[in-house]
Amino acid sequence: MKLEGLSIVGNTRTKPAGKPLPAVNPASGAPLEPGYYWATHQDVASAAQLAHKAFAEYGQWNPTRRAALLRRTAELIEANAAAIIERANLETALPPGRLQSEIARTCGQLRLFASLIEEGWWLDARIDHGDPARKPLPKPDVRSMLAPLGPVAVFSSSNFPLAFSVAGGDTASALAAGCPVIVKPHQGHLGTSELVGLIVQQAARECGAPEGVFSLLFGPGRDIGMALVKHPLIKAVGFTGSRAGGRALMDAGAARPEPIPVYAEMGSINPVFLLPGALAQSGDTLATGLHASVTLGVGQFCTNPGLVFVEQTPASQTFVQKVQSLLAATPPGAMLTSDISAAYRAGVEKFSNVPGVERITPAAAESHPGKNEAIATMFATDAKTFLAQRSLMDEIFGPSTLVIRCASREDMLSAAAGLEGQLTATIHGTPEDFAVNADLLALLRTKVGRLVCNGFPTGVEVCHAMVHGGPYPATADGGSTSVGTRAIERFVRPVCYQNFPDTALPDELRESNPLGIWRLVDGVPGRK
Ligand code: NAP
Repeated sequence: MKLEGLSIVGNTRTKPAGKPLPAVNPASGAPLEPGYYWATHQDVASAAQLAHKAFAEYGQWNPTRRAALLRRTAELIEANAAAIIERANLETALPPGRLQSEIARTCGQLRLFASLIEEGWWLDARIDHGDPARKPLPKPDVRSMLAPLGPVAVFSSSNFPLAFSVAGGDTASALAAGCPVIVKPHQGHLGTSELVGLIVQQAARECGAPEGVFSLLFGPGRDIGMALVKHPLIKAVGFTGSRAGGRALMDAGAARPEPIPVYAEMGSINPVFLLPGALAQSGDTLATGLHASVTLGVGQFCTNPGLVFVEQTPASQTFVQKVQSLLAATPPGAMLTSDISAAYRAGVEKFSNVPGVERITPAAAESHPGKNEAIATMFATDAKTFLAQRSLMDEIFGPSTLVIRCASREDMLSAAAGLEGQLTATIHGTPEDFAVNADLLALLRTKVGRLVCNGFPTGVEVCHAMVHGGPYPATADGGSTSVGTRAIERFVRPVCYQNFPDTALPDELRESNPLGIWRLVDGVPGRK
């Protein structure tokens, strides 16, 4: 596959317009060929119109056909894995091993959604038979199921160039639901996005999908991305990135004449609570585990543990010293983009200047801004300062964490009560710790999408039960997840059929259940 630096609109490539901009190798600052041409507003309109037209057919495709498209995309990604990894490594500085595991995760996700839609239970098909003889009024025959929304705009993430990008979780779940997708790729991996975009285009063609089921538009978020969100034919948005970016898109989606849902997954600082029994029992292991989690992928994960709560005890002091020495000995790592590394340095600088916050890893270790490197950093403060300084709730995207030293259990509880919505919260404790801290657990359940016990928040399993969401500001909609099969629920809505003849109903709601799916019939679940 040859890179041309051009957007994909349905079955065609856009024409070069304006001056091409190169992709950049973040580890060296060197430009990478080819130059990339930005899409135009006319391209946005063409892609949206094609997607709208495609939806009329694709939205009616049976699950077997949609599953074939997802599986063919996975096969083609695997067949081209070497070229994708080579390019992604140059564009993101992520090591080949990590990229290989992202290929596996991306293809696994595509196949998981394929199996899900073939099984059909996720459609929540319900049938309440009518009773014309009911008194005083006849009971209507009422049937409902989930149906696709229409064309979805997907903003790919910076930190998962494959698994949360062009053919990643948002695209897979939208295509699985029956929605055409238009991707606004992240500028941090333009060539990787083009390679994967060409693969989805090829898979769509081979599977006989209507033109426009997939498009990919290069360009700045504030211009091309915004135009996409505001286009009247777009019916939903999937986004992974910063709070500022997500909030801008949420507001734009809500301000449209016809508001649409914007599913933005934004920053999170993922508090970790180390209860006294656990710290006394295994402080050393916890220190090693925390260090590994904070520095994984140069800290560029939305599940990075950015806050650590401990009660002040001798065991917690030893723990902090151990993490401090591990972080101080960690070599600087290249970040994904120059903007992300600049934001990291600014965040570290900001925390360093908050009164009552102590930087406990040395500031002296040198990183190379030209190479976009970050050095691992640890701060410490007390619960009172944490609650008083709301800026300490801001995410520093990178290998940084803030320890909150609490004077007592009650102190820890009131600091936890001040937390904003988060993707995750983690608790390390012994059975005795948990018995004493039931109130902390109950509180945290109101704050997060996923509670982790005696582990670390980085590493999000892709499975049916996963929730990678959480109350605002972690996400735009705390009722959704962007990882796992529930992610499909973002791109559908319930539709009800009342008193329809069997022949006019979709297969999922016909009396004979031709697809053999699980349904709720007169209140009883089964395959009838
Ligand atoms: P970002 O700056 O929010 O950018 C993400 C995407 O949104 C890009 O395609 C960007 O387009 C677009 N965008 C940003 N602001 C926009 C606006 N006002 N209007 C329209 N489009 C806009 O995120 P990033 O580049 O990944 O930057 C890193 C930050 O994102 C981190 O500091 C971290 O806080 C957060 N992050 C969070 C997660 C998570 O899963 N929660 C994951 C990764 C990153 P352009 O680049 O073309 O402008």
